[in-house]
Amino acid sequence: MILTDTAGTPGTPGLRPGLENLVTDSPSAPAVLTPGFSPGTPHTGTNNSPSDLPPAGLTFDPPSADLFATDPIQRAASLQDVATLIAACQKCKLCSSRTNTVPGEGPATAKLVVVGEGPGRTEDETGRPFVGRAGELLTKILDAIQLPRDQVFICNVVKCRPPENRLPQYDEIAACMPFLYRQIELIKPKVILAMGGTAAQSLLNTKQSLGALRNHVHRFRGIPLVVTYHPAALLRNPNWKRPTWDDVRIAARLLAA
Ligand code: URA
Repeated sequence: MILTDTAGTPGTPGLRPGLENLVTDSPSAPAVLTPGFSPGTPHTGTNNSPSDLPPAGLTFDPPSADLFATDPIQRAASLQDVATLIAACQKCKLCSSRTNTVPGEGPATAKLVVVGEGPGRTEDETGRPFVGRAGELLTKILDAIQLPRDQVFICNVVKCRPPENRLPQYDEIAACMPFLYRQIELIKPKVILAMGGTAAQSLLNTKQSLGALRNHVHRFRGIPLVVTYHPAALLRNPNWKRPTWDDVRIAARLLAA
Protein backbone atom coordinates (compact mmCIF):
# COMPACT_ATOMS: atom_id res chain seq x y z
CA MET A 1 0.00 0.00 0.00
CA ILE A 2 1.06 3.61 -0.50
CA LEU A 3 1.13 5.82 2.53
CA THR A 4 1.46 9.45 1.69
CA ASP A 5 2.06 12.05 4.28
CA THR A 6 4.87 14.38 5.14
CA ALA A 7 4.90 13.02 8.68
CA GLY A 8 6.85 9.95 7.68
CA THR A 9 9.37 7.98 9.67
CA PRO A 10 12.00 5.59 8.38
CA GLY A 11 10.59 2.10 8.03
CA THR A 12 7.04 3.36 7.99
CA PRO A 13 6.87 5.26 4.75
CA GLY A 14 4.90 8.41 5.24
CA LEU A 15 3.01 7.40 8.33
CA ARG A 16 3.43 7.65 12.07
CA PRO A 17 3.69 4.35 13.92
CA GLY A 18 0.25 3.32 15.07
CA LEU A 19 -1.58 4.91 12.21
CA GLU A 20 -1.20 1.89 9.96
CA ASN A 21 -3.90 0.10 11.88
CA LEU A 22 -5.96 3.22 12.11
CA VAL A 23 -6.21 3.43 8.38
CA THR A 24 -5.81 -0.11 7.16
CA ASP A 25 -7.85 -2.27 9.53
CA SER A 26 -10.46 -2.62 6.86
CA PRO A 27 -9.84 -4.58 3.70
CA SER A 28 -11.74 -1.83 1.94
CA ALA A 29 -9.58 0.94 3.37
CA PRO A 30 -8.16 3.09 0.58
CA ALA A 31 -4.53 2.60 -0.33
CA VAL A 32 -3.83 6.32 -0.47
CA LEU A 33 -4.62 8.36 2.57
CA THR A 34 -4.47 11.85 1.24
CA PRO A 35 -7.10 12.84 -1.30
CA GLY A 36 -5.72 14.25 -4.47
CA PHE A 37 -2.60 12.07 -4.53
CA SER A 38 -2.31 9.07 -6.74
CA PRO A 39 -0.57 5.93 -5.54
CA GLY A 40 3.14 6.49 -5.38
CA THR A 41 2.99 10.26 -5.56
CA PRO A 42 5.13 11.77 -2.82
CA HIS A 43 3.12 14.03 -0.61
CA THR A 44 4.34 17.46 -1.50
CA GLY A 45 0.99 19.21 -1.72
CA THR A 46 -0.19 22.11 0.35
CA ASN A 47 -2.84 20.26 2.30
CA ASN A 48 -0.53 19.82 5.24
CA SER A 49 0.23 23.50 5.59
CA PRO A 50 -1.18 25.29 8.63
CA SER A 51 -2.69 27.91 6.34
CA ASP A 52 -4.54 25.38 4.22
CA LEU A 53 -7.61 24.90 6.35
CA PRO A 54 -11.25 24.21 5.58
CA PRO A 55 -13.75 27.08 5.68
CA ALA A 56 -14.99 28.71 8.84
CA GLY A 57 -18.12 27.13 10.27
CA LEU A 58 -20.39 27.88 13.19
CA THR A 59 -19.60 30.05 16.17
CA PHE A 60 -21.06 29.46 19.62
CA ASP A 61 -20.33 31.72 22.56
CA PRO A 62 -22.16 30.61 25.69
CA PRO A 63 -21.71 33.13 28.50
CA SER A 64 -18.68 32.46 30.65
CA ALA A 65 -18.20 32.88 34.38
CA ASP A 66 -17.96 36.40 35.72
CA LEU A 67 -16.46 37.69 38.91
CA PHE A 68 -19.77 37.73 40.73
CA ALA A 69 -21.04 34.31 39.68
CA THR A 70 -22.69 32.37 42.48
CA ASP A 71 -23.05 29.06 40.63
CA PRO A 72 -20.49 26.68 42.19
CA ILE A 73 -19.58 25.29 38.76
CA GLN A 74 -18.68 28.72 37.51
CA ARG A 75 -16.73 29.38 40.68
CA ALA A 76 -14.75 26.11 40.46
CA ALA A 77 -11.13 27.20 40.38
CA SER A 78 -9.50 24.02 39.10
CA LEU A 79 -10.28 20.86 37.13
CA GLN A 80 -10.20 18.99 40.43
CA ASP A 81 -12.85 21.35 41.83
CA VAL A 82 -15.01 20.63 38.78
CA ALA A 83 -14.49 16.87 39.24
CA THR A 84 -15.52 17.16 42.89
CA LEU A 85 -18.74 18.91 41.90
CA ILE A 86 -19.40 16.27 39.24
CA ALA A 87 -18.91 13.50 41.80
CA ALA A 88 -21.68 14.99 43.94
CA CYS A 89 -23.99 15.91 41.04
CA GLN A 90 -27.61 14.75 41.09
CA LYS A 91 -28.96 17.13 38.48
CA CYS A 92 -30.27 14.40 36.19
CA LYS A 93 -31.46 10.82 36.35
CA LEU A 94 -28.12 9.38 35.17
CA CYS A 95 -26.82 9.80 38.74
CA SER A 96 -29.05 6.97 39.96
CA SER A 97 -27.52 4.28 37.72
CA ARG A 98 -23.87 5.34 37.68
CA THR A 99 -21.07 3.43 39.40
CA ASN A 100 -18.58 6.28 39.03
CA THR A 101 -18.71 9.72 37.55
CA VAL A 102 -16.29 10.22 34.65
CA PRO A 103 -15.21 13.86 34.74
CA GLY A 104 -12.41 13.53 32.19
CA GLU A 105 -8.66 13.39 32.52
CA GLY A 106 -5.57 15.13 31.28
CA PRO A 107 -3.40 18.11 32.11
CA ALA A 108 -4.89 21.52 32.83
CA THR A 109 -2.34 22.85 30.34
CA ALA A 110 -3.54 20.63 27.47
CA LYS A 111 -3.47 22.26 24.05
CA LEU A 112 -6.11 19.86 22.76
CA VAL A 113 -9.41 18.94 24.40
CA VAL A 114 -11.15 15.87 22.98
CA VAL A 115 -14.86 15.60 23.70
CA GLY A 116 -16.84 12.37 23.28
CA GLU A 117 -20.42 11.51 24.04
CA GLY A 118 -20.63 9.81 27.42
CA PRO A 119 -19.04 7.04 29.46
CA GLY A 120 -19.57 3.42 28.49
CA ARG A 121 -19.42 0.38 30.73
CA THR A 122 -15.64 0.32 31.27
CA GLU A 123 -15.55 4.05 31.84
CA ASP A 124 -18.37 3.79 34.38
CA GLU A 125 -16.49 1.00 36.16
CA THR A 126 -13.18 2.84 36.25
CA GLY A 127 -14.17 6.52 36.38
CA ARG A 128 -11.84 7.18 33.44
CA PRO A 129 -12.84 8.37 29.93
CA PHE A 130 -12.22 6.38 26.78
CA VAL A 131 -10.61 3.31 28.29
CA GLY A 132 -12.55 0.66 26.34
CA ARG A 133 -12.06 -0.35 22.70
CA ALA A 134 -13.07 3.08 21.45
CA GLY A 135 -10.51 4.53 23.82
CA GLU A 136 -7.75 2.33 22.42
CA LEU A 137 -8.58 3.63 18.97
CA LEU A 138 -8.60 7.20 20.24
CA THR A 139 -5.11 6.67 21.68
CA LYS A 140 -3.94 5.47 18.24
CA ILE A 141 -5.56 8.46 16.55
CA LEU A 142 -3.72 10.82 18.89
CA ASP A 143 -0.45 8.93 18.40
CA ALA A 144 -0.90 9.40 14.67
CA ILE A 145 -0.65 13.17 15.10
CA GLN A 146 2.18 12.70 17.59
CA LEU A 147 0.14 13.67 20.59
CA PRO A 148 0.62 11.29 23.50
CA ARG A 149 -2.73 10.68 25.13
CA ASP A 150 -1.50 11.95 28.46
CA GLN A 151 -0.91 15.40 26.96
CA VAL A 152 -4.55 15.73 25.92
CA PHE A 153 -7.57 16.49 28.06
CA ILE A 154 -10.16 13.81 27.23
CA CYS A 155 -13.73 14.10 28.41
CA ASN A 156 -17.35 13.68 27.45
CA VAL A 157 -20.53 15.70 27.10
CA VAL A 158 -22.21 13.75 29.91
CA LYS A 159 -20.18 12.62 32.87
CA CYS A 160 -22.33 9.63 33.87
CA ARG A 161 -23.05 6.52 31.82
CA PRO A 162 -26.41 6.46 30.04
CA PRO A 163 -28.05 3.06 30.70
CA GLU A 164 -27.26 0.45 28.01
CA ASN A 165 -25.09 3.07 26.32
CA ARG A 166 -28.13 4.83 24.88
CA LEU A 167 -27.74 8.37 23.56
CA PRO A 168 -27.74 11.01 26.27
CA GLN A 169 -31.10 12.76 26.39
CA TYR A 170 -31.62 16.48 26.00
CA ASP A 171 -32.22 17.17 29.71
CA GLU A 172 -29.14 15.13 30.65
CA ILE A 173 -26.96 17.05 28.21
CA ALA A 174 -28.40 20.37 29.39
CA ALA A 175 -27.68 19.47 33.02
CA CYS A 176 -24.10 18.43 32.28
CA MET A 177 -22.90 21.03 29.77
CA PRO A 178 -21.96 23.64 32.41
CA PHE A 179 -19.27 21.23 33.65
CA LEU A 180 -17.81 20.95 30.17
CA TYR A 181 -18.01 24.69 29.63
CA ARG A 182 -16.08 25.26 32.86
CA GLN A 183 -13.50 22.61 32.03
CA ILE A 184 -12.82 24.25 28.67
CA GLU A 185 -12.75 27.67 30.32
CA LEU A 186 -10.13 26.53 32.81
CA ILE A 187 -7.96 24.72 30.26
CA LYS A 188 -8.19 27.32 27.50
CA PRO A 189 -7.04 24.81 24.85
CA LYS A 190 -5.77 25.83 21.46
CA VAL A 191 -8.11 23.38 19.70
CA ILE A 192 -11.19 21.31 20.54
CA LEU A 193 -11.88 18.01 18.77
CA ALA A 194 -15.54 17.03 18.97
CA MET A 195 -15.92 13.30 18.31
CA GLY A 196 -19.38 12.27 17.15
CA GLY A 197 -22.68 14.02 16.67
CA THR A 198 -23.54 14.46 20.34
CA ALA A 199 -20.29 16.29 21.11
CA ALA A 200 -20.43 18.39 17.94
CA GLN A 201 -24.08 19.37 18.26
CA SER A 202 -23.84 20.08 21.99
CA LEU A 203 -20.72 22.23 21.74
CA LEU A 204 -21.97 24.16 18.73
CA ASN A 205 -25.61 24.35 19.88
CA THR A 206 -26.87 23.05 16.58
CA LYS A 207 -28.90 20.20 15.12
CA GLN A 208 -26.83 20.04 11.95
CA SER A 209 -25.64 16.57 11.01
CA LEU A 210 -22.13 15.33 11.63
CA GLY A 211 -21.65 15.18 7.86
CA ALA A 212 -22.55 18.85 7.50
CA LEU A 213 -20.37 19.87 10.44
CA ARG A 214 -17.21 18.05 9.34
CA ASN A 215 -14.55 19.79 7.30
CA HIS A 216 -15.06 23.23 8.81
CA VAL A 217 -13.21 25.16 11.46
CA HIS A 218 -15.93 26.10 13.93
CA ARG A 219 -15.43 28.29 16.98
CA PHE A 220 -16.45 27.64 20.55
CA ARG A 221 -15.88 30.83 22.53
CA GLY A 222 -13.31 31.72 19.91
CA ILE A 223 -11.45 28.39 20.19
CA PRO A 224 -11.15 26.48 16.89
CA LEU A 225 -13.32 23.37 17.01
CA VAL A 226 -13.00 20.45 14.58
CA VAL A 227 -15.67 17.79 14.19
CA THR A 228 -15.01 14.15 13.38
CA TYR A 229 -16.46 10.69 13.78
CA HIS A 230 -16.68 9.04 17.17
CA PRO A 231 -14.10 6.24 17.60
CA ALA A 232 -16.90 3.79 18.41
CA ALA A 233 -18.44 4.59 15.02
CA LEU A 234 -15.07 3.85 13.40
CA LEU A 235 -15.04 0.43 15.01
CA ARG A 236 -18.42 -0.25 13.39
CA ASN A 237 -17.55 1.33 10.06
CA PRO A 238 -13.82 1.27 9.23
CA ASN A 239 -14.48 3.19 6.00
CA TRP A 240 -14.78 6.30 8.16
CA LYS A 241 -11.16 6.00 9.28
CA ARG A 242 -9.86 7.84 6.26
CA PRO A 243 -12.13 10.89 6.69
CA THR A 244 -11.28 10.81 10.38
CA TRP A 245 -7.60 10.98 9.50
CA ASP A 246 -8.38 14.02 7.33
CA ASP A 247 -10.19 15.64 10.26
CA VAL A 248 -7.51 15.00 12.85
CA ARG A 249 -4.92 16.42 10.52
CA ILE A 250 -6.98 19.63 10.42
CA ALA A 251 -6.79 19.65 14.21
CA ALA A 252 -3.04 18.99 14.03
CA ARG A 253 -2.57 21.88 11.61
CA LEU A 254 -4.47 24.19 13.94
CA LEU A 255 -2.33 23.03 16.84
CA ALA A 256 0.81 23.75 14.83
CA ALA A 257 -0.36 27.16 13.63
N1 URA B 1 -17.44 6.70 24.32
C1 URA B 1 -17.46 7.99 24.72
O1 URA B 1 -18.08 8.84 24.11
N2 URA B 1 -16.78 8.30 25.79
C2 URA B 1 -16.07 7.42 26.50
O2 URA B 1 -15.48 7.83 27.49
C3 URA B 1 -16.05 6.11 26.05
C4 URA B 1 -16.75 5.75 24.96
